[in-house]
Amino acid sequence: MWFRREEESVPSGEISPILLDVISQLDQDALLVAPGEVIVFATDDIEKLNLLRDGRISSPELIALIRVVRRTRQTRTGKIAVPRGPIGEGLRDLTVKAIFLNEFENILVLVSDESEADRVHEVRRDFVANISHELKTPIGALSLLSEAVLSAKDEPASVEKFAGRMQIEAKRLTDLVQEIINLSRLQDSDPLEIATENHVADLISEAVDLCKTTSEAKGISISNASGPEAIVLGDSEQLIMAIHNLLENAINYSPANTKVSISSENQGDIVEITVTDQGIGIPEGELERIFERFYRVDPARSRETGGTGLGLSIVKHVASNHGGDVKVWSSQNIGSSFALRLPIFKPSGGSSQ
Ligand code: ADP
Repeated sequence: MWFRREEESVPSGEISPILLDVISQLDQDALLVAPGEVIVFATDDIEKLNLLRDGRISSPELIALIRVVRRTRQTRTGKIAVPRGPIGEGLRDLTVKAIFLNEFENILVLVSDESEADRVHEVRRDFVANISHELKTPIGALSLLSEAVLSAKDEPASVEKFAGRMQIEAKRLTDLVQEIINLSRLQDSDPLEIATENHVADLISEAVDLCKTTSEAKGISISNASGPEAIVLGDSEQLIMAIHNLLENAINYSPANTKVSISSENQGDIVEITVTDQGIGIPEGELERIFERFYRVDPARSRETGGTGLGLSIVKHVASNHGGDVKVWSSQNIGSSFALRLPIFKPSGGSSQ
């Protein structure tokens, strides 16, 4: 915290120790403004908000608000937009509350940065828009296919073909709805609150079992090399779902008759569960984005494999909800490796908790 002026040089810029104490206890950023718009006090982070220039308030909107409050002696709240930096058009939306203080006629300005809340709101809005778009595709296809069945009702071969495609679209819809439910459950729950102890080897073999049908259909063998014992604390269903998603992707994005392997290794306090394939790989520029919801490197291929575009964002969520993370290495046409890294649970004193 810093003072802009010494008390002697600006008599009106006085500030009582009690007020200073109260302001320093607040979670919000604050400014104390004496008559003449002289700043007598500002919290550290005010500088980062680009609200001041050469020790004076740089936002004309904020100066106007302060003047109104000084005139009316009534608290007012307003929204102001300040540039994010010296260049560019980016703005930061701030909510400011200006409170008239009888003491020395100072005005206390409380500042809150709404940008993060707005960003979260935007992400949520995009998610809803994406979901609507993703749902419309199979629903539209089903509607067209049912029309096709009706118009081809006297041709058994065509009816069979369209009905088969309807089944595929219906499955896509079911998978999508299921994944959306999974993801929203993950976002709301804290698995560490209802955690159980899970042996990594058990989680891996359950996930491998779930992939049997898909791997056998493609002639892909899954080699399972679980390492030394490791226990992770968490929700077993979520953990199996995450490992299963990595295995399904490894199978889906690999040519038939290749190999997929899964292994685990303890590295200090972390267990690393790695799924490696000999598949198509991921271009380097896409590696950052594949964990985003509904992001696919090749939407057409993902449609073919029945991908929902949510698998990896679920893995990422499970990892972070369990205090871990997920890493990827990939080379195009050589293969990919995904590592789910989780903290190892060590029961203290031999007890289970
Ligand atoms: P999808 O349901 O489309 O598989 P994911 O979220 O699981 O969605 O994966 C996002 C995208 O990342 C996929 O569409 C695919 O392009 C790429 N991807 C994921 N895993 C692999 C992998 N093992 N090999 C190659 N590409 C992969």
